[in-house]
Amino acid sequence: MPSSFRALRLGLILFFILAGTLLTAGWAMHHAKRQSMVEDARRASEQLGLYATSLHTLIERYRALPAVLALDPELISALRGPVAGTVQDALNRKLERINGAANSSTLELLDRTGLAVAASNWRLPSTYVGSNYGFRPYFKQTRSQGSGRFYAVGVTSGVPGYFLSSAVQDENSRFLGAMVVKLEFPELEREWRQGSDILLVSDARGIIFIANQDGWRYRELQPLSSADRAELAVTRQYDKQPLVPLQHHVLSSFDSNSHLTRVQGPEGSTDYLWESLPLEAEGWTLHLLRKPQVSEDGRNAALAAAAVWLSVVFALLFISQRLRLARLRQRSREELERLVQARTRDLRTAQEGLVQSAKLAALGQMSAALAHEINQPLTTQRMQLATLRLLLDNQRLDEARQALEPLEQMLTRMAALTGHLKTFARNSPSGLRERLDLATVVDQALQLLDARIRAEDVSVALYLARPAWVRGDAIRLEQVLINLLRNALDAMAQKSYKRLEVRIDAEQDHWRLSVLDSGGGIAAEHLACVFDPFFTTKPVGEGLGLGLAISYGIIHEAGGRLQVDNQPGGARFSLTLPMDPEPAC
Ligand code: ADP
Repeated sequence: MPSSFRALRLGLILFFILAGTLLTAGWAMHHAKRQSMVEDARRASEQLGLYATSLHTLIERYRALPAVLALDPELISALRGPVAGTVQDALNRKLERINGAANSSTLELLDRTGLAVAASNWRLPSTYVGSNYGFRPYFKQTRSQGSGRFYAVGVTSGVPGYFLSSAVQDENSRFLGAMVVKLEFPELEREWRQGSDILLVSDARGIIFIANQDGWRYRELQPLSSADRAELAVTRQYDKQPLVPLQHHVLSSFDSNSHLTRVQGPEGSTDYLWESLPLEAEGWTLHLLRKPQVSEDGRNAALAAAAVWLSVVFALLFISQRLRLARLRQRSREELERLVQARTRDLRTAQEGLVQSAKLAALGQMSAALAHEINQPLTTQRMQLATLRLLLDNQRLDEARQALEPLEQMLTRMAALTGHLKTFARNSPSGLRERLDLATVVDQALQLLDARIRAEDVSVALYLARPAWVRGDAIRLEQVLINLLRNALDAMAQKSYKRLEVRIDAEQDHWRLSVLDSGGGIAAEHLACVFDPFFTTKPVGEGLGLGLAISYGIIHEAGGRLQVDNQPGGARFSLTLPMDPEPAC
C-alpha cells in the first residue's frame, strides 16, 4: 500500500473519530439539556396548577358575595326610589361594615343607570359614590344576564381590580341596579413575588394585568386589533395605562402550553421556560416564566457519550486490526507453506541431480586415477605375457605356471575396480534398503582410493568390527565414505604426518563408523556449516562444497546421523546407522 494512501486512510479514520466524538457529545448534550428542560417544564406546569387553584379559590370566595347582598331588602327598597340623605348614609355605612367583615377591596351599589349610589369607600376622596359606571361591561352584563365580571383599572381610584356584580331585582324581577364587589390582588401578587419565577395573568386579548414582578403589567402578548382598541377605549378597561407590546418568540416547544421562549422583557433579552394555563371560568390565562437551569447533566452526558463512542470506536478498530492481522497471518502462512512445498520440490530435484552429478564428477576423478591404475598393470602384464610366451617356447612349464599367478592377481584386482565403477555410476533409486556390511563398504571405498592413498603415502589404520550389518543403499553409502575419505586426504595433503583411521564400533543398537585424520581439524566457526551446500574452503575449481551436504542427506535418508567434531590431530566424521538384526534361520 503506498504511504500517501496509508496517510490519507489514517487521516480519514482520525477525522471520523473526531467528528463522531463531537457529534455524539453534541447530540448527548442537546438531548440531556432538552430532557432536563422537559423535566423542569413539567415541574413548572405542576406549580402553575397550584397558582391557578389559589387564584381560583380567591375569586370563588367572593363570587357569592354580591349575589347574597343583592337579596338584601334594604338595598332593594332603597333602589326603588332616589337614594340620598339618611338612606344613602345608612347604605354607605352598611356596605363599609360588610366590606370590612368580608375583607374585600370595595363594595358599591349602582342604580339602574349605573350610577354609584352607595359605596364602602364613601369616606375617601376617591369614592365611587356619584360616579356613573354604566359604560362598564360588567354593568351591561348584569343588566342583561343577571351577573357580570370584569377586570379593570378603577376609573376613579386608578387601582386595578376584578369587579364581580349581581343584579338587584324587585319581586317582579325587574332590574333595579347592581351590587358590585371589587377585588384587588396586592396580597396575591405579594405572595407570588416570593419565588424567583415570573407569574403573569393575561386576559382574553392577551393583555397582562396581574404580574408578580415590576415592568410586566400592561404588556400585550399579541398585537391588538383596531376593534379591540376601540372597545378598550369605550370600556376604559385599562383606562389611562399605556399598553406596551412584549416581544417574544418560541425557540422550541415541549407541548402546546410549554415552550422555551426568548423574551425581550424588562430585564432585556432572556430565555425562559414558558408555561401557560388557561383559566376557563374567567377567560384568562395564567403564565409562569422560569429561567432554565444550567445543569451539569449536559456536560456529564456529553462526556459520557464521548467516552462510550470512543470506547466503541477503539473496540471496533482493535477487532478489525486483529481480524486484519489474522487474515494477513493466515495468508502469509499459506504463502509460506506453498513456498516451502515448492522449495522442497526444487531441492529434492536439485539434490537428486546433484547426487548424480557429484557421482559423475567423482567418476571423472576416479577414471583418471583408474587409467593410471590400469595402464601400469597392463604394461606389466604385456611384458609378463611376453616372458610367458618365451617360457612356454622353451618348455619351461613350471616357471610359466608361476608367472601366471601375478597375472591372475592383477586381473582379479582390475576386474574388482571396473566392476565397482560400474555400480558407482548407476543412478540407484532412492530409498533402496538392502542388507549390507558396513565393513565391506569401507573396503570398497578404500580400494577405489587406494592409488591416491599410496601415492600420498598415507598410513591407514583400520579398526573395523565385522560384519557390521545395516540396511541401506550400498552405492550411496560408499559414495558417502568416499567423500569422507577424500576430504580427509585433502585435509592432510600438505601435512608431513598423514594418518587415516577408520573405525566401526558397536554402540547399543547402532553401528558407529568414524573417519579420523591428522589434517588439523576444522576451524571452530566452520563446524556449524560444513554440512551446508556449497560451503567449501577449497580453492575455486577444486571444491564444490556439495560432498558433505549430499552425504548428510543420504545418511538421514537411511535413518542415521552424520556428525563432525575435532580431535587432537584432526577432524572426526562419524556416521551412525541402526544395526540390522541377524535374520532368523
Ligand atoms: P568440498 O570438499 O567440495 O569443499 P565438502 O562438503 O565435502 O565440499 O566439504 C566442505 C568443507 O568442509 C571443505 O571445504 C572443508 O573446509 C571442510 N572439511 C570437510 N572435511 C574436512 C576434514 N576432514 N578436515 C578439515 N576440513 C574438512
